[in-house]
Formats: sequence, C-alpha cells, structure tokens
Amino acid sequence: MGVPGRFFLTTPIYYVNDAPHLGTAYSTVNADALARWHRLIGDDTWFLTGTDEHGLKMARAAQEQGGSPQDWVDTMSRRYVESWAALKISNDDFIRTTEARHTSSVQQFMQAIYDNGYMHKGLYEGWYCVSCEAYYPEGDLAPGQLCPVHERPVEWLTEENWFFELSRFEQPLLEWYERHPEAIFPESRRNEALGIIRGGLQDISITRTSIDWGIPVPWDSAHVVYVWYDALINYITAIGYGADPDRFAKWWPAAHHLLGKDIIRFHCVWWPAMCLAAGIDPPAGFVVHGWLLVGGEKMSKTKLNQIDPVQLAGDIGVDALRYHLVREVALGADGDFTYEGLIARYNSDLANNLGNLLARVATVVGSKCGGSGSAPRPAGPGVRLSEVAVEVVSACRDAWARFAPNEALEATWRLVRTANAELEAIEPWKLPPGPAVDAVLGDALEALRIVALLVSPVMPSAAGELWSRIGLEGRPDEPGAAADGAGLLWGGYPAGRPVTKGAPLFPRRSSER
Ligand SMILES: [Zn+2]
Repeated sequence: MGVPGRFFLTTPIYYVNDAPHLGTAYSTVNADALARWHRLIGDDTWFLTGTDEHGLKMARAAQEQGGSPQDWVDTMSRRYVESWAALKISNDDFIRTTEARHTSSVQQFMQAIYDNGYMHKGLYEGWYCVSCEAYYPEGDLAPGQLCPVHERPVEWLTEENWFFELSRFEQPLLEWYERHPEAIFPESRRNEALGIIRGGLQDISITRTSIDWGIPVPWDSAHVVYVWYDALINYITAIGYGADPDRFAKWWPAAHHLLGKDIIRFHCVWWPAMCLAAGIDPPAGFVVHGWLLVGGEKMSKTKLNQIDPVQLAGDIGVDALRYHLVREVALGADGDFTYEGLIARYNSDLANNLGNLLARVATVVGSKCGGSGSAPRPAGPGVRLSEVAVEVVSACRDAWARFAPNEALEATWRLVRTANAELEAIEPWKLPPGPAVDAVLGDALEALRIVALLVSPVMPSAAGELWSRIGLEGRPDEPGAAADGAGLLWGGYPAGRPVTKGAPLFPRRSSER
C-alpha cells in the first residue's frame, strides 16, 4: 500500500495522436477521484498525468501536416491540458515527454542500465504496427497480416538496435512479485502479469535508427530511444529522477500507476524490470482497469467511436459525468457506455436521491425551523442514521483503500437512501414545529454533511454547493478535512446554520438528446 501518509498516483501518459475521449477520461477521472480522496484523508499526495509525444506516428503526422513534430505535438498536447481542466482534474503536474527534464532523466536512466550491463546491440526485424508503435510476433497478427488491435496492415522493419536484456529478469521479477503480493490490483490482473513472466521473457529492442523524433541514446547518438521505453520513464522524471535526489527519494517507490489492461506487459513486466536494471526499486503498485466500451468496442481513433468527454459534460454537467465514470464500472472490469445509462443513473442517484434529499431537508428547515438547522442527536442505538453513517464511512475508507471507488459511492448512497427513508417514515412536514422535527432534521443535515465529504473526491463542485446550502463554511474538499477520520465522525454538524434550498442541485434530465 505504499508508505503510509504518502501517495503518488499516475495516469498513463496519453499518446497525443488520439484526442481525449471518454476512455481516457475514464482513466483520468478515476485517478483524480483517488488523488482527491487521499488529499481528503490528509495524505501527502502527488498526482501526475501528461502526454506521450515521440515515435514514428507523430513524426509522420507532422510531415503530413507540413509542420515540425514539435509544433504538432504542442498543439495536440494542449487538447489534453484543456480537457482535463474542463473536467476539474486536480493533477499536480502535467508531464510532456518532449520536455528537457524528460530528455535528461531518460538519458541518465538508460545510461545506468547500460553501465549495469543490461544492454547489447543486435539485429531486429519484425512486423511493426505504426499505430501501436510495437512489433508483433507473426502468430499474434490478425488474419491477413493485420495489427490485432488496429486491424490495419503491419510493416516489415529491419534495424540494428540496442536491446534491453529483459530475459535476465524473469526470476528477479517473480521474486519481487512474491515479496509484493499486493502490487497489482485487481488479483486477476496480477495473475495475468505473472503468466506473461512465467511464459518466458525475450530481450526487447529499445532503440530506433529509422527515425530521429525521439530521445538520443546517450552512448550511441545514431539511435533514439523507442517511444514506449521513453514513455514509461516519465513517472520518475516528474519526481526529479537524476535532478533532485531528495524529491525523488520522497516519492519513489511510493507510486501507484493506474493503467488500462491493454498495457499490462509494458507496465507490470517491462517497467519493474527496467527499474531493477537501473538500480532503483519498482513502483509500489499497479491499478489495472478495464475498458470503457461503446457499442461493445474499445474507443479508438481508427474506429470513429470516440465520444468527446468535454462535450458530454456540457450536456449533463461535469460532476454528473464524473459520477457516472466512477460509479458505473468497477476498476478492473469492462463496462459499456450508453447515453441512456448515463441519464438513467443521473436521474435515479443524483436527481431523485441526493438532490431530492437536500431539497426536502431545506424545505422543511425553512417551513418548520425558521431556516436554520439543528444539531444531530448523539450517535447510538435508536439513531438509525448515525448507525448507518458509521457503517458507510467505514465501508468507504475500505473501498478507497482497495481502489474500488465505485463501491465507495455505492456505500455512500446507502446513507442517502436511508436518510430519505427516515424522512418518509417520520414525515416531519406533517408535524408541528418542535423537538421531534428538530431531531429528525438535525440527523438528516448531519447525513448530508457526511455525504458532501464522501462525494467530494468525485463531485467536487456539487459537494461544495451542498456544503454551502446546509450553511457550512469553507469547503468539504479541504486537504485533511477527513484526516484520521475525524471529519467523518457523527456529530459534526453545528446547530444554527442557515439552510438554503436554492435551485435543484441536479435537475431531472430527459433521455432525449
Ligand atoms: Zn496497431
């Protein structure tokens, strides 16, 4: 689980040839929610995302546009920066593999592996997919000599390259995973990674002479580093590898990499072996998610089934989209995105449950309590909401720690639904003003306060709005607001705060586009 109280989380860096789409937003929003949770509980947190900008595909795309590769990737990378800002992604750093800091880090890392004796020169040839930037063994190609991912023709390339001696790391990797049984979430993906290693590892070609759009190999400047190899090193560049030893020692190896299941080989096999070869520890953990499919297929540029997440957020709201991306599909599983599913969940969970709870409570506080709320009753048997809140908070802490943010939301909604059910059972709107009404509303306000904290990693704006409507000062997502669980203990809602109803927090949506 990494060093307690310190949490370094990364997304994959996105290849700039693709525009940001719902699949990349799925990774990034889930990572953002995890980072925000860790800040909320007081962990010293560093959250990194960025863009991957080298390789043959970029060089060719720039050529087709008649511009320089650097101008091309500058333009393409900006789309990610803008999209993530629009989706309220709270990254602490945004790394680009064309930055000078990365060149320096990659060269030092490569030199360390070379000096440690894990590189040799050899002839490489094989079927190469330009879109994947990867060679495929004959047997892995789709019928008709096509890339198995892109279903487009592959090219036969021959080059003299530098090879990383991955084959020497079968045993060290198996031993490392043996000592770190929790390094890969979920368990099924750990078995997949171990299967790849046990199946036998071959040395990998990690430099290219056919292009010059890449980072020069420090000991042989006719070669540039293979794009995938350079990309992985971003995770340590960003925390000062080779530049700031104190900063590097602070964050490494307390890193968790969030990644899609299609890049397990690179992250869970190559990368830890590269780290061992360079003389540093492998990262603490890998969180492997499935694919968010559209119509049963993975989104990709070549399939034209990409959905622009910023446009979708414009339709439904940033928080509502973030909620759906975290709640709908468990990290690790595949899920199918549909617009109808998005609207149905929005209406049931956000409009009818959470939005309705706030509106009801605010209405009755206005009509029966002169607009200011009461404190909740002390926790204990007989105060049903307090009992459910304790269970829910505990379930949420456990779920976030297991990289299961969807389960944290599911648990949170148990509290929301119980609060609504209590109001329906007691019907305070039918009672005369007095202690009975104050008690039930104080409990409901306290439930809303706890819910605001619990949903703030996923819906930061709505949580802030909920917080201020129930009269609380500051924000629910202040770093450390739930440190040591203190902010999440029952009883924190103070009496006498102005409660305002306002416009519906989540107006009902029609599924008509
Ligand atoms: Zn391909």
